[in-house]
Amino acid sequence: MLTKRIQILNESMTIAISTLARELKAEGKDILSFSAGEPDFDTPQVIKEEAIKALNKGFTKYTAVAGIPELLKAISVKLERDNNLLYKPSNIIASNGAKHSLFNLIQALIEDNDEVIIPSPYWVTYPELVRYSGGVPVTIETTDESGFKITPEQLKKAITPKTKMLILTTPSNPTGSIYSKEELEELAKVLKGTDIFVCADEMYEKLIYDGEKFTSVASISDDMFQRTITVNGLSKSVAMTGWRFGYLASPNDELIGAMKRLQSQSASNINSITQYAAIAGLDGRADKDIEIMRVEFEKRRDLAIKLIEEIEALSVVKPKGAFYLFINIKKVSNDSMKFAKDLLSEKGVALIPGLAFGSEGYVRFSFATDEKSIIEGIKRIKEFVS
Ligand code: PMP
Ligand code: GLU
Repeated sequence: MLTKRIQILNESMTIAISTLARELKAEGKDILSFSAGEPDFDTPQVIKEEAIKALNKGFTKYTAVAGIPELLKAISVKLERDNNLLYKPSNIIASNGAKHSLFNLIQALIEDNDEVIIPSPYWVTYPELVRYSGGVPVTIETTDESGFKITPEQLKKAITPKTKMLILTTPSNPTGSIYSKEELEELAKVLKGTDIFVCADEMYEKLIYDGEKFTSVASISDDMFQRTITVNGLSKSVAMTGWRFGYLASPNDELIGAMKRLQSQSASNINSITQYAAIAGLDGRADKDIEIMRVEFEKRRDLAIKLIEEIEALSVVKPKGAFYLFINIKKVSNDSMKFAKDLLSEKGVALIPGLAFGSEGYVRFSFATDEKSIIEGIKRIKEFVS
């Protein structure tokens, strides 16, 4: 009955485990969940107020497929101000979360046997979307020893005549690693002269620690700008996961036109109220709130790292961005799925097995959780591994 492509599509494990943790909690079980990739903060008030205004003004109708002009303009201004990227509003499409932007992009560019290079560990969704489109995910392995970043040599080796796209996530989910400007320049040299597209997923751009500097992939050179599709959103930076807002930008009119056609036949526009509210998340009005959350995440990261380091059998590379620890459990287990299952059933602590991100021997711990839970959760992890 079902198509071949849907039969091979796996459910998102990050969503499955966070949903399970939420259900167990609702049943009254003592569960501490570090599984969701979701800030525990509320959406800033300025954004909510814009949504209320939009509702009261009756902005409740269909809009243009890519988004209202004011929104596309706000995204274009943001990309210039924060990222030094000059995209015209007509080069931008707003979608139902960055996940939907990625779906549109991969559907428009990838078909049978196209290879997509994905550095591993990767965010769960990429290989699934590639396979769903008929493409072949080609992973490049990285470990904590290389700071979870690919080298130009690794990239060169992975490229074949079938390579259509490279997905770069900086800062990374699940490792928090960030590519420096120099590192991106080295990768750009390898791509020069090829017709490989780059999907730059910059969802965690605002969550950067230790004074680290963020560089947008497309800002490296004109060559990179032309081949890159910049993907971003507001789910993580301003705690808007439930609003469903993401966007992508590319100077390639043919590609943008194709994705608009796809969206016009699938989702039409995104929620009209979300569009008005999102402007306040992009134009600087929420910057104070973003900074408050960032500072709090940095404090929680330091606390979680300190506590994990006290557990002899575990080790972790200090993430420079995002809100995850990708903990090495190899001294304890080489089966991250079993480790996560047993930890949940024995200690009520939910983590995501590294296997979901393509890297066995690790688990992902989200520190977008309150300090009290972090302290108690890591205490339980310590009891579990000893
Ligand atoms: N990219 C990355 C790296 C993510 O971690 C996520 C979700 N956590 C997304 C994209 C999608 O986010 P959303 O659909 O909520 O915008
Ligand atoms: N991306 C988040 C995560 O990694 C949310 C869940 C999902 O969209 O897969 O947990």
